Order: sequence, then C-alpha cells, then structure tokens
Amino acid sequence: MLSPNINDAFNKQLNLEIYSAYIYLSMAARCNELNLSGFANWLQVQAQEELAHTMRFYDYIFERGGSVVYEALAKPPSGWDSVLAIFETGYHHEGEVTARINTLMDLALEESDHASSSFLQWFIDEQVEEEATFLTIVQQLKLIQESPQALFMLDKEMGQRVFTPPAQ
Ligand code: MG
Repeated sequence: MLSPNINDAFNKQLNLEIYSAYIYLSMAARCNELNLSGFANWLQVQAQEELAHTMRFYDYIFERGGSVVYEALAKPPSGWDSVLAIFETGYHHEGEVTARINTLMDLALEESDHASSSFLQWFIDEQVEEEATFLTIVQQLKLIQESPQALFMLDKEMGQRVFTPPAQ
C-alpha cells in the first residue's frame, strides 16, 4: 500500500505528465501555424509519450492500492515567435519535470519505499534522455537559424518520428 504522502505526490506527478502532453500539443499547433508540419508531428509524438508516462503512474498507483485524482489543467503557453522559442520552452519544461522526479525519489528514499524508488528509476533515466533530446534540437535550431533550407531539411527529419508504444 502506498503511503498517503507518496500517493499524493505520485498523483501530482501523474497530473503533471498530462499537462506535459497538453504543452506539447500547444507547441505542435503553433508549429503547424508556422508551416512546420514535421516539427508538429514530432511534438504530437512527444505528447503521446507523455500520456504513456501518465499511464505508468496510473498503473503503478493502482498496483499499490492507491487512488488517482485528476486536477484541472492549466492553460498551456502559446503564440511562440519561432520554433527555437518553442523548443527552448520544451527544454526548460523537461528540466522542471526532472526536478520533480528527483523530489519524488527523495521522498521514496525518506520513507524507505523501495518499490517506489525502483519504479522511479525508469523516470530518472528517461529524464536524462528527454533533456538531452530537447537540448540537441535547441542547439541544432540555433546553428541553422539563418538558413531556411536547413530548417526545412530538419522539419522533414522531424516528420519521420513515430510513436512506439512502451513494452509492458
Ligand atoms: Mg514525461
């Protein structure tokens, strides 16, 4: 059984993962407005990944006899000027998610909840990847800022991303 403290903290994280999907969908919409459908595709896949993260928490909470409560979603940012600004927002957002996951791990360790620590380890590793991916895209966009040709090539590449459902 999850402690009430950990149940509450995991529930907040589950809601943050849904909000992450919401932000990425807002970013995808802006990319479509900017006629960058490849970037939009990439972000739509990212949103699907965030929903998969949500369901990992959902399944785990129920496995441990806890309960899930959905909160109201905050309005996501919108109206970015450029695709670089969009991905900078994404990079900062992932940094915040990492900080929250680290805090959850601290809590699990404090309460000697080894099952929760083990569960969270996947997210610790995943966040390293998420931050690295966004940072790489930010750096690529900075490099090609003055080159529309390079931007269209990168857009084409971003259009290749497909969602792979997580292995159970
Ligand atoms: Mg996530």
